[in-house]
Amino acid sequence: MFFILSKAIIPDLTSGDLYAMVTSIDREAPMAHKKQPKPVPQLTAAQFEDLFPDEDACRAYLVARRWPQGVRCPRCGSGHVYELKAIAFKWECMECAPGISYRFSHIAGTIFENTNKPLRDWYRVTHLMLASKKGMSALQIMRFMGFGSYKTAWMMCHKIRAALIEDVEKLGGIVEVDETYVGGKDKNRHWDKRSHITGRGDPSKTPVVGAVKRKGNVIARVVENVRRDTIEGFVNEMVSEKVSLLCTDNYKSYQRLHYRFPHGIVDHSAGQHVVGAIHTNTIEGFWSLIKRGVMGTFHKVSRKYLPLYVAEFQFRYNNRENADIFGAAISGC
Ligand SMILES: [Zn+2]
Repeated sequence: MFFILSKAIIPDLTSGDLYAMVTSIDREAPMAHKKQPKPVPQLTAAQFEDLFPDEDACRAYLVARRWPQGVRCPRCGSGHVYELKAIAFKWECMECAPGISYRFSHIAGTIFENTNKPLRDWYRVTHLMLASKKGMSALQIMRFMGFGSYKTAWMMCHKIRAALIEDVEKLGGIVEVDETYVGGKDKNRHWDKRSHITGRGDPSKTPVVGAVKRKGNVIARVVENVRRDTIEGFVNEMVSEKVSLLCTDNYKSYQRLHYRFPHGIVDHSAGQHVVGAIHTNTIEGFWSLIKRGVMGTFHKVSRKYLPLYVAEFQFRYNNRENADIFGAAISGC
């Protein structure tokens, strides 16, 4: 059993009433929407109900996502496992426990282990987190799900965030690198370009450095500082040497990148923002998503947990064109 959301769920816009409606829209008016990419339909509430009518459907979905090539022992990785006839969703492995056998279930070694919440609740929370562009706070989740405790909702959200941490290949093509600062004093909470510049050096803010491939993936990391060695270490690790152009602003930590990369700089302090292909608008768009999410939805995010929130925003961004983002999330759980 393996569910893939196909293009069939996307309504046909090439003919019929919908086409007539779409083509009758005044194209001149919505300037702001012209550059917006086409949204990719994701799992709807109705599809969720169809996919997951009960706990067994959730279990089967997890098995298919975890082990697309067949069930493997979570302890030793062996594929020589035997399904227990008497108990559903239980297997045993002889390889890592000769003579006695090691028994495991579908949730062994996943974030769903040792919880008293049904998988269906976990799936619903995951679905909610992925469906909202700026994320959902544990408080919202608690109320929506009718959970008795905030701590439960908070733990679930953090475990899901940890499951969303993904390995991303080195970025190539045109790449933008930039840093931002999250947190800080209340009076400084103006998340616009102004705070972006004045944030440098504010000890109450946590720096995050990021690299984004245009029309591609983003990689963002919470860092200790934005010194040159830290920034260069991040760029060397995340950006391919075969990159065609690396864009940054003129902050001093970026100024030696041209030794290794074809490097273009925009001087924001001189009012420069776009010089031909050289700009950092894409990564700044990602920062504003995080900042609006963290400040608007999560209110106060401690430095300790910021990496988890950054992972959540990175995952949503990198799967923005993946109609099966939900399945991708579950396979990482
Ligand atoms: Zn084993």
